[in-house]
Amino acid sequence: MEFIDLKAQYQLLREDIGDAIQRVLDHGQYIMGPEVAQLEHKLAAFTGARHCVTVSSGTEALLISLMALGVEPGDEVITTPFSFIATAEAIVLLGARPVFVDVERASGNLDPALVAARIGPRTRAILPVSLYGQPADMDAINAVALRHGLPVIEDAAQSFGAGYRGRRSGNLSAIGCTSFFPSKPLGCYGDGGAIFTSDDELAQAMREIRVHGQSQRYRHTRIGVGGRMDTLQCAIVLAKLGAFEQELARRRQVAAVYDRLFAGRIETLAPAPDRDSAYAQYTVLPQRRAAVQSALQLAGIPSAVHYPLPIHQQPAYAHFDHAACPVAELLARHVLSLPMGPYLASADAERVAAVVLAAAGA
Ligand SMILES: *Cc1c(COP(=O)(O)O)cnc(C)c1O
Repeated sequence: MEFIDLKAQYQLLREDIGDAIQRVLDHGQYIMGPEVAQLEHKLAAFTGARHCVTVSSGTEALLISLMALGVEPGDEVITTPFSFIATAEAIVLLGARPVFVDVERASGNLDPALVAARIGPRTRAILPVSLYGQPADMDAINAVALRHGLPVIEDAAQSFGAGYRGRRSGNLSAIGCTSFFPSKPLGCYGDGGAIFTSDDELAQAMREIRVHGQSQRYRHTRIGVGGRMDTLQCAIVLAKLGAFEQELARRRQVAAVYDRLFAGRIETLAPAPDRDSAYAQYTVLPQRRAAVQSALQLAGIPSAVHYPLPIHQQPAYAHFDHAACPVAELLARHVLSLPMGPYLASADAERVAAVVLAAAGA
């Protein structure tokens, strides 16, 4: 059993992906070839945002977004401590300070009720993460942000394809960022990412920052980065896009199998009723995590902990001032992600659940 089965997807889409790659090799426009704009067009339509700007990774998407907002040294960005490190890293790379706000017990996402107290004169943006595929409570976060005139960037690296109150993750706030890292819900075969916004000026700034801040060839009006997504990677995502809705539906079926077997026996981070998850991960919270992990390992079943140490406790980040984040610390001690993906057989999910329940003594 695979933790995330990328080979099964490739076997199914083999011909389309091969053809897509071959077309790029034939036309030879490896940088900013026609597939880049094609993908941006389709992804913008998918989320409902006016603009999509593809970039070289999810990390670069966050960095370029913060640069487009003008985040500078000494500024502060409010974010969650319970995420992949890239979320806070992008802030620190610009000389700004991450201000960590604790997460909700039920979702693991930034707690909107705690945000206002941490907003100060240097706050420039709020950066929530839609962890494991479930959108953060974006309307509540947007409402706090609006009262203080702040932009919100959704880190949707794990939640592309998820819905929230009838809208799509990535298009739930001023800016949404996603990643096409191979194991994300919509992945390429290398690094890639995208930024979504409906603000024309921000989109233009992002497009310029992506190519070294140039507004015309060799005219550099901003500080930028080398942040383009390769034509080949865009072609691969395009080839996978046709199967994506069906894959999302299948992820939800697999989650429903787990949900049914775990109900009343083991805690899970199930999506709230007003949203659904893209299920980048299916995560349980067993009391005795180590025992469950070793039972799974003995049974030949892969599992993973996302993430064992919250960012505010990481050696390189611990010196940043932060309020207490007891919920993030508690979740970090208990979360365990199980095999998940559109190509996981229901029978395999049942086998995983049986091992988890037996080891947890539930
Ligand atoms: C994967 C991930 C990123 C970074 O994406 P890359 O494409 O790997 O740079 C950022 N934030 C979160 C929450 C992620 O899961």
